[in-house]
Amino acid sequence: MVQTKVGGMTTLNKVTIGSSEYKIKRSMTLPSSYTKSNIQFGEISLLEKEILINARLPSNLQAEALLHEVLHGLFHSTGLNRSLSSFSCESEEEIVTLLSRGLCGVFKTSPKLLDYLKDAVCAKP
Ligand SMILES: [Zn+2]
Repeated sequence: MVQTKVGGMTTLNKVTIGSSEYKIKRSMTLPSSYTKSNIQFGEISLLEKEILINARLPSNLQAEALLHEVLHGLFHSTGLNRSLSSFSCESEEEIVTLLSRGLCGVFKTSPKLLDYLKDAVCAKP
């Protein structure tokens, strides 16, 4: 992971999902699916290894969007998409949305959890 500070806020430029490194890009104009009530937060290209985040969103929603797209990446890199018997794009979207929103809620109400996880996960055995 590569992180930089932009305007006092930490941003990431790369993230590794499974064995693949994804570039993280922010864009004021996402290519598709702006609808009346449903703003697209981001998207992941599994082929191009790229995550695009809607730069018009406030930083907390950009973070949720990034987590959401990382979960999509994990869904595919772990083979979870193939192992679910009744898999569909809709079910993946629902699962990823529930998990990313849920995790952001947990991180918000338990801010020390991320520090703990980072220390524990990155600790040398
Ligand atoms: Zn999604």
